[in-house]
Amino acid sequence: MNSKLYDVIVIGGGTSGMLAAYSAAQNGASVLLLEKNKRLGKKLRLTGGGRCNVTNAKSPEEVLQHIPGNGKFLYSAFSQFNNYDIIQLFTENGVELKEEDHGRLFPTTNRSKTIVETLERLLTQAKVNIFYEASVSKILVNQANQVGGVKLTDQQEIYGRAVVIATGGKTYRYTGSTGDGYELAKRLGHTITKLYPTEVPLLSEDGFIKKNALQGLSLQDVALSVLNNKQKKLTTQRLDLLFTHFGLSGPATLRCSSTVVKLLEKQDLVTVSLDIFPDQAPSEIEAFLVQNALDQAPKSIKNGLRLWLPERLLAYLLNQSSLSIEQPIQQVTQKQWQQLAQLVKAFKMSINGTWPLDKAFVTGGGISLKEINPKTMESKLIDGLYFCGEILDINGYTGGYNITAAFSTGFVAGKNAATI
Ligand SMILES: Cc1cc2nc3c(=O)[nH]c(=O)nc-3n(C[C@H](O)[C@H](O)[C@H](O)COP(=O)(O)OP(=O)(O)OC[C@H]3O[C@@H](n4cnc5c(N)ncnc54)[C@H](O)[C@@H]3O)c2cc1C
Repeated sequence: MNSKLYDVIVIGGGTSGMLAAYSAAQNGASVLLLEKNKRLGKKLRLTGGGRCNVTNAKSPEEVLQHIPGNGKFLYSAFSQFNNYDIIQLFTENGVELKEEDHGRLFPTTNRSKTIVETLERLLTQAKVNIFYEASVSKILVNQANQVGGVKLTDQQEIYGRAVVIATGGKTYRYTGSTGDGYELAKRLGHTITKLYPTEVPLLSEDGFIKKNALQGLSLQDVALSVLNNKQKKLTTQRLDLLFTHFGLSGPATLRCSSTVVKLLEKQDLVTVSLDIFPDQAPSEIEAFLVQNALDQAPKSIKNGLRLWLPERLLAYLLNQSSLSIEQPIQQVTQKQWQQLAQLVKAFKMSINGTWPLDKAFVTGGGISLKEINPKTMESKLIDGLYFCGEILDINGYTGGYNITAAFSTGFVAGKNAATI
């Protein structure tokens, strides 16, 4: 196995590595894909709750806007292979896709297996050689800083003209993304920017969280903002939100998480503010509450506002305004309605942490993009060395954006590695 010289060796048979190997082979290269697991795409199988949120139907420009971690770096890669190309690749190869909320695309089978098996078929058709349970421990580089191949953990050396590192980030380590690629790259002089969890649930020790007062309650289409010390909104994300026994989860929370993580590096607590009725001004809400009270008297607040908010949330917010859910609705003063209206527009919570990196959906930070050619994904330090996927200092929101970035960079890295 070690006598052959491959045109391209791809390390990592995950999302980006599979596409890199395919695109290199499509461009005429002899390709070897090395995967340390017994099978390909272990993490890809988990995505979208096991249904694989394979990409997004928004325009490529909008997709880039949903990649807050260095999305701009991807302009050139997207001009070569973007979300529309991903859609085309799968539909042309027999995978029917369906669109769900926020442009998210899934296979109609509702099974990530469909996507992984399609990629496996494409790799076979393109005659890509695959070695399973092959873990790379070193990249071979000659004195002229030119890649020559790889060394496996069993000391075996395999030679190649180009090497693509597609070893993923450092989350859900049991899928194989244990961060090996960062070490391989560091030894060759690459800079790794600080790694941090993104797209991750948030922890709170606020009394109502500790008492599980709102645990399990989910709110649709609310606006969650992250505030700095001067109470200025740094980001606002309008999506669904879930209260849990440890704090906050759900799409709005995940999207706010990278901003929270960065603030938590400088301070112990971060304030987030929830707007439960983002389309209404406080004065409109107050007017509604006052009119509703007139219409619903002599009912209790609980019955009079039954359809307005879930009962547990209403009880909690009323308690904050020194009101009780059982009180007659006409007892509430204008000032108290005003307070309640302000509270539903700015329900503040203190965040003191996030789930750890291993439990995050995505790794923030990675191979410094200053050292990567954005047109080719080639290292600026080592000739013939390429990077793709989550190992790069790129992170997107959930919604198919990370997979899109991985496929796009994978395609570009593979195509250009084939030209060496
Ligand atoms: C639970 C979960 C849900 C997610 N949901 C979404 C979502 O809905 N939308 C979205 O866009 N993104 C989602 N993501 C993120 C997305 O899955 C990743 O960003 C993407 O798969 C990264 O692709 P990659 O090729 O860089 O890495 P990976 O897919 O992690 O592949 C890396 C591969 O390299 C192999 N490897 C590592 N080291 C070595 C070595 N030394 N030698 C050989 N092989 C090695 C690993 O075994 C692995 O197979 C989710 C992630 C998780 C964990």
